[in-house]
Amino acid sequence: MNAPVAIRNLRGAGQLVLQWEDGEHSISHARLRGACPCSQCRAARISGVIAVVAADVRVERVESQGYGVQLVFSDGHERGIYPWTYLHTLSGPTPLLWERL
Ligand SMILES: [Zn+2]
Repeated sequence: MNAPVAIRNLRGAGQLVLQWEDGEHSISHARLRGACPCSQCRAARISGVIAVVAADVRVERVESQGYGVQLVFSDGHERGIYPWTYLHTLSGPTPLLWERL
């Protein structure tokens, strides 16, 4: 999976816009927070804990990690590193794809 051509963080709209070679997709910040792939969040989801994600949660910073990006959220959570493949999948129509990680 190639890195996106461009990433724009629309903080006001709460959307991360990713421009891939096959088109441009946006993912809401709340969805990204709910799909955090860090071990802590994955363990919580697997054990059936349903975390309430605030609709107004925002991505504060996007840090490049080579194979993906680390997202720093306004609720202080910053453990999730989102590989490009995962981000590409998240921008598609099917939720809960974290199970494939
Ligand atoms: Zn997490």
